[in-house]
Amino acid sequence: MLYAEARQEILNICRDMVKEKYFLGTWGNVSMRIGDHIILTPSKVEYDAMKLEDFVILSLDGNVVEGNRTPTSEKEVHRQIYLVRDDVKAIIHAHTPKAMAVSTLPVSAVPCMVEEMSQLLGGRIPLTRQYICAEKHIELGHAAAEGIGDKSGVILRNHGPVACGRDLREAALSVEVIEKACAIYLDVNNRVIKEIPAKFVESERYRFLYKYGHENT
Ligand SMILES: [Zn+2]
Repeated sequence: MLYAEARQEILNICRDMVKEKYFLGTWGNVSMRIGDHIILTPSKVEYDAMKLEDFVILSLDGNVVEGNRTPTSEKEVHRQIYLVRDDVKAIIHAHTPKAMAVSTLPVSAVPCMVEEMSQLLGGRIPLTRQYICAEKHIELGHAAAEGIGDKSGVILRNHGPVACGRDLREAALSVEVIEKACAIYLDVNNRVIKEIPAKFVESERYRFLYKYGHENT
């Protein structure tokens, strides 16, 4: 079995997400990229019952390398992002209540209101333009990849958030920061928001990605 350790790491994160109520039922999925392979959670398997052998390994071009299960029906959301973002090594798509609430608002982005957003997410959280039904996997994947740009999070319209990171822990933290940002946004709704100025978003993002943990400041 390929990547046993990574599978265990994904399974632990899935269980954390269920505990936090970020995944409900079988909605929500997780992936990791190792080299040219994507490890994906399977479709229609409850997280409590999920076993390491249930995971599916895909090649970057979408072919199954290992696994008997069907990969998550939202695999294209993951694959299309990996195809355009070499820096991304883990992706979590969750169905979290605050981000889902924001996904219904007629706005194009959640403003960059707090520091975690500039550092971890890269600033504002974009929303994809329009609702795309679950059946149209590839279209949904393209919209997610286009929407996320160089950020670490995007909200799929009338659906839910997609968060990414340089590892699984960072992707999980991005899910939490997106949810927290959306809760703040809903709280301040209809009031004027003072955003973090763009120059600070840029410098804080840079510091988080390339300097944080490597300096004494
Ligand atoms: Zn979904």
